[in-house]
Amino acid sequence: MRNYKFRLYPTVSQEDVLVNNINVCRWVYNKFIDYTKKGTVSQYDLQDYLIELKQQESWLYNYHSKMLQMVCVQMSGSQKALKSLKENGKKTGSLRFARYGEYRTFIYNQSGYKLENGKLTLSKIGDIKIKQHRIIQGKIKQVIITKTKSGKWYCSVTCELDKTQPPIINFKKVVGIDVGIKNFAYDSDGSVTPNPLNLKKMLKPLARIQRKISRRQIGSNNRKKAIKFYQIIHERITNKRKDFHHKLSTTYARKYDVAVVEKLQLTNMVKNPKLSRSIMDSSWGTFLQKLEYKCKLYVEVEPRGTTIDCSRCGNKVPKSLAVRIHRCDKCNLVIDRDYNASINILHKVIPSERRKSTPVEISKRSMTQEAHSKDG
Ligand SMILES: [Zn+2]
Repeated sequence: MRNYKFRLYPTVSQEDVLVNNINVCRWVYNKFIDYTKKGTVSQYDLQDYLIELKQQESWLYNYHSKMLQMVCVQMSGSQKALKSLKENGKKTGSLRFARYGEYRTFIYNQSGYKLENGKLTLSKIGDIKIKQHRIIQGKIKQVIITKTKSGKWYCSVTCELDKTQPPIINFKKVVGIDVGIKNFAYDSDGSVTPNPLNLKKMLKPLARIQRKISRRQIGSNNRKKAIKFYQIIHERITNKRKDFHHKLSTTYARKYDVAVVEKLQLTNMVKNPKLSRSIMDSSWGTFLQKLEYKCKLYVEVEPRGTTIDCSRCGNKVPKSLAVRIHRCDKCNLVIDRDYNASINILHKVIPSERRKSTPVEISKRSMTQEAHSKDG
């Protein structure tokens, strides 16, 4: 299975129709909430109840039947989630009615959709302009239409990949990647990708709008406007970050067959308050997820020793986070600490590479210059 997300550009009248479909799903969902007040009901019971509802409310026939059936699936999913929470000793109430604006999606499953020539055709709705920036692979199984809080429309497409031959992996095309705060990624071939720090740059405007929101009267139109603006900026940051993750992971997946990375230990790092903002901003986890599904082979190794060990001779060179350069007294290797780490990460999977790969040493002068500019 593979997922794609595309932006939709409905016309004004189409937007009304989409909102209407969401509201119909919400209406059915809320009917289900009412129906399940007595206790848990199975998905089949819900489907029977849906047929009953349709007989009472014949206008429901104007909507794609699979879409309404997916509300049954969703409802039974919510019930299961609630049940497992209860079983794990969590305090839970009952499922709440979905209010206007809380419910923002509807699903077309298995049938009723077509995606071609920059158009998404939905049965009982029509052709909607779509920005398809990627060619999809496999057969479309499901389409989820979502309205974001700021009012944009997106379409998530789930595809089932053909069960063809497994890919042929060239193990010589292998790279070790170290992810970090100073450098978002440093690889064993010496390529550096600096951290874009999108959020940091946008933090000021975000804080400004937040202050604006708090000054506005609750319920006022100005406050609503400010909230919407806040959501737009927030979405913009998320999109920028996603875009960056996609581009970088695609670059790696095209260049290499095998990617070796460290298992992330975010829990330890977030404890350091100075680091947490940068960590949230870099969000390596989501990057690595993308890398994982794009690469032919993705390997996670234990992080033990990767920053301390000398990648050339194995000598232990302990260093604090502030020390950006790895200096080995034994073999005189002087390289960036992240570079050293990425080679060690690679060695964990391919130890024989140790003798073959001699990291390119950077002259001490340029190294210190670089270190200064980075720290500044
Ligand atoms: Zn050494």
